[in-house]
Amino acid sequence: MEKRKGCNLKTNTFAQEKYSRQTILKEIGYKGQEKLSQSKVIIIGVGALGTNTAELLTRAGIGSLTLIDVDQIEESNLQRQTLFVEKDVGKNKAEIAKEKLEKTNSLVKIEAKVIELNENNREILKNADLILDCTDNLETRFLINDYCKKNKKPWIYSSCVKTYGYVMPILPEGPCLRCFLKQADLDSACTSGIINTIPASIAALQVTLATKLLLKETVDPILYYYNIWNTEFKRLKIKKTCSFCIKN
Ligand SMILES: [Zn+2]
Repeated sequence: MEKRKGCNLKTNTFAQEKYSRQTILKEIGYKGQEKLSQSKVIIIGVGALGTNTAELLTRAGIGSLTLIDVDQIEESNLQRQTLFVEKDVGKNKAEIAKEKLEKTNSLVKIEAKVIELNENNREILKNADLILDCTDNLETRFLINDYCKKNKKPWIYSSCVKTYGYVMPILPEGPCLRCFLKQADLDSACTSGIINTIPASIAALQVTLATKLLLKETVDPILYYYNIWNTEFKRLKIKKTCSFCIKN
């Protein structure tokens, strides 16, 4: 537990060594690493996107991470949900992810919440610097969208199915999810299948954008599309079209 005593880079030699490849990187540096170590991120959904995203953020040395998922691990998840192994089947996703991530980086404060995000508990999003959508349903995404719009919080939308996926940073002043997604018409991994390289790629893009947002770098509110099978990458400009964004 000695190692856990603060992540102060000036005094903690364990942290200095652990993050040395990021502190020498000009895009992050010593100051950036300190900022990351003080940041609070909430990940909603600990499936394929959530496990990849949580692992990258934990290894990068985020200050605190809250994982939200009510589901249990199933055999069919192991193909792409990187934090889980065969003996975890039947156990809760958020709790097992927390257990694995604490072993990965003891400097990160990790909390597991075995709940389904809804209207009555969404206030738990209040203390986060950034909210990452790793869910698999539009209902929860709209809940995150409306909460963040109203409370002027940044969040990052991500989704993937088959061989493609989307990522978009949704910023208080920019367009939102309702500006381009109208209703629940998306395929799911469950009904359409998914290649395991796409959640890994979409998560990597989401975490890169998250890192930039936490470091207060400029991030464009662009909808990114990537199809890994065709190696096709698109940057889609979204206009403010929903009634909330037009009014505000
Ligand atoms: Zn909007």
